[in-house]
Amino acid sequence: MIETDVIIIGAGASGLMCAIEAGKRGRKVLVLDHANKAGKKILMSGGGRCNFTNYSIEPSNYISSNPHFCKSALSRYTQWDFLALIGQYRIPFHERDHGQLFCNESARDILDMLLAECDKADVVVQLNTRIDSVERPADRFHLKTSKGNFSCRSLVVATGGLSIPKMGATPLGYKIAGKFGINVLPTGAGLVPFTLQPEDKEKFSALSGIAVPSAVSNKRQSFSGNVLFTHRGLSGPAILQISSYWRAGEEISINLLPQVNLDAELKAKRQQKIKNKLKTILEGYLPKRLISAFLDENLLDLSIQDVSDKQIMQVASQLNNWTIKPNGTEGYRTAEVTVGGIDCDAVSSKTMESKQVPGLYFIGEVLDVTGWLGGYNFQWAWSSAWCAGQYC
Ligand code: FAD
Repeated sequence: MIETDVIIIGAGASGLMCAIEAGKRGRKVLVLDHANKAGKKILMSGGGRCNFTNYSIEPSNYISSNPHFCKSALSRYTQWDFLALIGQYRIPFHERDHGQLFCNESARDILDMLLAECDKADVVVQLNTRIDSVERPADRFHLKTSKGNFSCRSLVVATGGLSIPKMGATPLGYKIAGKFGINVLPTGAGLVPFTLQPEDKEKFSALSGIAVPSAVSNKRQSFSGNVLFTHRGLSGPAILQISSYWRAGEEISINLLPQVNLDAELKAKRQQKIKNKLKTILEGYLPKRLISAFLDENLLDLSIQDVSDKQIMQVASQLNNWTIKPNGTEGYRTAEVTVGGIDCDAVSSKTMESKQVPGLYFIGEVLDVTGWLGGYNFQWAWSSAWCAGQYC
């Protein structure tokens, strides 16, 4: 049995950050991961450029059944703290819409920085290691693995969520929680494209590749951003955002022209005695293909002068308030995150330690804290990991 102070399961964003902080305190830290590479999700994130944080991080950017839980960690290790670390390594980055910060060159810059910090803190990262069992016979944890048996005083679970199983996602973190009697809230795919009902799929299949700046809402939230029609259904930032708030069977409402009150606009055109066809007017706002998929050709061919108030109302309702019931989502296969997870009420918001099992910590996406699209999930990984790293 090899003895160490801290074992962290998961060499992803949160696991590496926690290892650095615990290592800096002089703790002997071993990070175990079953994958053949550390930080695979970091490397694939943000289209290979890693949207590592956001200039504006607020607790309201996170979904959790305990919305207060994330506040402490986010205020103790902020986006500015992570930017200071990036600054030490002179990693070039840029801002995109809504304060999102991306690497200029490659997500590898972030991973290399974390691994360099791990080295400085004498952290050992052991890959290709399958965890067979976790026990706590007394006040130490005993782990049986494919690379031998280990014992530690503090065990940190940083196994992430269930999204992209191909990249090594597993439910191990939830299983460890279950084993120690810690509540796990139901999980689901978040930041994920929608699939459509068969009839809608057929109707909109010709629109694949079209992106429209829109406002998307359900009963709980609304987001603005592009909606992208795909050959499977709907994607794009606004769709991914609302998907984390969506429940099966629910309708969503999409305003394909959020800047234009179409009812008022078409009536005004009619008043101005303009003779253009309805089609020509609408093509000034939206792609031709989209208009044809949404509206009847006979109606589109009418001169605006011949379009009734009722018809204008129908057109406006189709484009300003398109309601659609998705068939489902693409699921964990393409989801960026997992909604739900370890019940935050079972964990200290200051230390990330289990309230029931001393020495057992949960950090990152395995917890029931899910960020919006835009760097919020990595910031949660950094913040929660930093906190645990001060105590484990
Ligand atoms: P992870 O980074 O997923 O790390 C978990 C680690 O645990 C992995 O290394 C895994 O191999 C290991 N592990 C799992 N099961 C086991 C097991 N049984 N035994 C041993 N090891 C195990 N967020 C952003 O903020 N910005 C982005 O740009 C962004 N882009 C993304 C793009 C994609 C395609 C995806 C899928 C996600 C993206 N995310 C992004 C989300 C972000 O990657 C995660 O929220 C973040 O990585 C969570 O960190 P974590 O440490 O909790 O988990």
